[in-house]
Amino acid sequence: MMTMPKCHDCGRFCRPVAWKLIYSGALPEPQEEIYRCAPCVEKHGSFEPQHGIKPEYSCGKFPAVLPAPTFPDGMTAEDDRRFLELTSGRTHNAKVSGVPPQD
Ligand SMILES: [Zn+2]
Repeated sequence: MMTMPKCHDCGRFCRPVAWKLIYSGALPEPQEEIYRCAPCVEKHGSFEPQHGIKPEYSCGKFPAVLPAPTFPDGMTAEDDRRFLELTSGRTHNAKVSGVPPQD
């Protein structure tokens, strides 16, 4: 069974955008992996590397866009669907909709 990652700061289940490995110092293996959700990263920033640990082994960020963007402007198909709902049918991308751009 898969466990859902929980944000270390607000405690909510989330799709984390940042991760950090906690080393106790006694063992060469990390003791714990913690996550931070997008709103908390916006509030507090990404994790700071632990003192004495190489930054690339200490903390990092997950890729920003998953799945890969469908549209040239970086929007995914899901983003596009949400955008269409919010704007009642107006597309963010005139070329994809078939409407020629007005120059
Ligand atoms: Zn959070």
